[in-house]
Amino acid sequence: MRSRDDLYDVVVAGGGPAGAAAALALLREGRTVVLADAATGAPSVGEALPAAAGVLLRDLGVGDRIPGDGHLPCYANLSAWGSPALGAVDSVNDPHGPGWHLDRLLFDRRLRACAQAAGAHVETRTTVRPRARHADGTWTVALRRADDRRIDDHPADDRRTVRCRWLVDTTGRRAAIATACGARRRTYDRLIALHCVLGRDREVRADNSTLVEAAPDGWWYAAALPSERLLVVWFTDADLPAARTGPPWLDRLAATRHIAARAGAGLRHGRAARVTPRRAPAHTARLDRVHGDGWTAAGDAAAAFDPLSSQGILTALYTGMRAGEAVAARLGGDAADLDHYAANVDGIVAAHLRNRHTYYAFEQRWPHRPFWRRRHRAP
Ligand SMILES: Cc1cc2nc3c(=O)[nH]c(=O)nc-3n(C[C@H](O)[C@H](O)[C@H](O)COP(=O)(O)OP(=O)(O)OC[C@H]3O[C@@H](n4cnc5c(N)ncnc54)[C@H](O)[C@@H]3O)c2cc1C
Repeated sequence: MRSRDDLYDVVVAGGGPAGAAAALALLREGRTVVLADAATGAPSVGEALPAAAGVLLRDLGVGDRIPGDGHLPCYANLSAWGSPALGAVDSVNDPHGPGWHLDRLLFDRRLRACAQAAGAHVETRTTVRPRARHADGTWTVALRRADDRRIDDHPADDRRTVRCRWLVDTTGRRAAIATACGARRRTYDRLIALHCVLGRDREVRADNSTLVEAAPDGWWYAAALPSERLLVVWFTDADLPAARTGPPWLDRLAATRHIAARAGAGLRHGRAARVTPRRAPAHTARLDRVHGDGWTAAGDAAAAFDPLSSQGILTALYTGMRAGEAVAARLGGDAADLDHYAANVDGIVAAHLRNRHTYYAFEQRWPHRPFWRRRHRAP
């Protein structure tokens, strides 16, 4: 790391898809970038990448390397939605071809490696925290390694602070930088995800389709992972009894028709081992503003979507790239593109809310259950 007096154009906080895309776009415009990611190894949830992402990855100049090998192709999306029967959307009808079931750790790591190869200073296991804003508009930013003591224990340690002209917040749903700068996060629902990984049943191992199954209090999702395991997720509202974890969760899973069949022996082993799911927020949310004095937000930090859309990674790549371009323009003296970027995000959120309402309206079997009643109201 350079000394305290070295000035970077931009510090990008958060090294998921949005952060890497922002860094790549900034570097392409000749900007100097620190890309710091706090993750300590726990895999991110979110693995289905639509084929259209290939276009964005090419726009970012990494389409020859990303996603690369180590992921599974996904040829179809199956869903029991609106009736118990399974419907299929086959990739044969998609002009972009099949999508992917990603190894998320590998995907995110490769994107960061591309940013590094393009000239970014990449720090992993490192949390970004703004320390001071100076009269000339630059920031002093603290970088804390996960295995270090508290930042405040190292006030004089030059290696742990940098200066920059702009901050990009790609910290995911927590939007750590934007909210510290006064932006407010609006949430639209209380959706949470309870997720676990089961052993993959040998009999259904060849099936790489995604599977969605609606239920009275939410919906299930299953997808094969490149690790030969099966990701199973239950989506419901955080305030409903169906959000409880513990052994009844696997009983609920066993009562499904299609997801239980897909899990097969993996479910039996999971029940025997008393596997309990992990919780993750999955609600739709957005910031009231995606840029301010000296900062810009992108990815889930700017707007996070109901995973039913399977658009989260795609949108993170797109908004990351657009935010990077707009910040580069702003540093070059053109402030207008930041407003264009904000209008882009408004449009994406409006389209998501419309599509979310339309899709939930297709399921009318349980109109009086709170989960569905809430989603059938006008957006
Ligand atoms: C249950 C669930 C299932 C999903 N399934 C899908 C799916 O199938 N397909 C899909 O496209 N999307 C899916 N998504 C959404 C998708 O995962 C996200 O939209 C996507 O990861 C957003 O990327 P991002 O770069 O904005 O944020 P993230 O991927 O969340 O990355 C943010 C990074 O910032 C780091 N960070 C946080 N604070 C700091 C800090 N102060 N300094 C430095 N680093 C920091 C975090 O550690 C993290 O590594 C799903 C989401 C959920 C909850």
